[in-house]
Formats: sequence, structure tokens, C-alpha cells
Amino acid sequence: MKKATRAEKSTAYHEAGHAVARYYLFHPIRKVTICPDKNDDSAGHCEGKGRSYLDGIDVEISPRKQSRMFDNIKILLAGREAQRRFNKRSKRSVLNCQAHSDWRKAVDLAIRLTTSTRGTELLLEWLRHETESFVQLRWSDIEAVAAELLDRKTLTGEEVREIISLRYGPLPANETEEAK
Ligand SMILES: [Zn+2]
Repeated sequence: MKKATRAEKSTAYHEAGHAVARYYLFHPIRKVTICPDKNDDSAGHCEGKGRSYLDGIDVEISPRKQSRMFDNIKILLAGREAQRRFNKRSKRSVLNCQAHSDWRKAVDLAIRLTTSTRGTELLLEWLRHETESFVQLRWSDIEAVAAELLDRKTLTGEEVREIISLRYGPLPANETEEAK
């Protein structure tokens, strides 16, 4: 097998960041891949299942939906935080267009959850901080998923669950709004 390039590793950590955040926040994963997609010019993907909060017009946001939107922002930010942590010692620029597009989506969600620019900034700052701590806490899981991604290129949600639960035992029942 050919040795992974730094860019491939960086993508694997990015996607693993999304996948591990999804796992711990009980957002189901359809698949996670580091195969580039020419259609949207992406280096990889972490696809969820069911309803997404990324699009849509908010008539009102229930507390439950608000909490799911917070989680969505963390999932979006977990990719770039994992990538940033992986690249920490690298002198080269670390964030690819994937990370920038995640950031734009996170900003859009944060705008819908706040009523002022300052509020949006503070919310993003808080969630970025939370995500950074999460990535630090779950770093060994992210490394394990990234290593499997480099090896197998694509993982299903079930495979991600196996990789992580083999290390600690499974999480309790995966009951989520999106899974229903
Ligand atoms: Zn991403």
C-alpha cells in the first residue's frame, strides 16, 4: 500500500473529527470517507442520516432544536479542530477549503441562533472552545478512526461505532431525533 501523503492524513483527521463528534453527540453517521468527490471538489465527507438543520427557515426554534443546532455547529467545527491539532507541528498552512466551508456553515447556524453580531461571535467562540476541548479529550478515538480511514478509505457509521466501542465498550442506546 502506498504511504499516505500529508494532505491525505490531514483529510483523514478532519473527517475523523466530524465522525467522532457525531458518534459522541448521537448524530447517526451514514458514511465517512476520504475519497475525493469531483462533483463538489471535496477531499472527503462525513455524511449523516435524516434531517439536517443546515438549511431551512426558522419560524421558531424549540429548545430541543436549539440544542441539536449547537451540536451541529460542534460537529462542523470538530473537523477543522482535529485537522488543526494534527497539523500543529506543521509549518505549512493547515486548513483546506473543506474547513472553510464548514466554518461558513457554522456561522450560518450561529446567526440563526442569535440576534446580534456580537452574540453570533460569542456563541461561535464558546462552541469552538468546547469543540477544541472535545477534540483534546477524544484525541485517541480520532487517531484510531483516522488510521482506519487511511487504511480503508470509507467507513460506515456501524464501522465507526465498532472502532470506538472496541476501545471502551458501547455507548448506551443511540436514541436520537434524526434516527427516528
Ligand atoms: Zn469538514
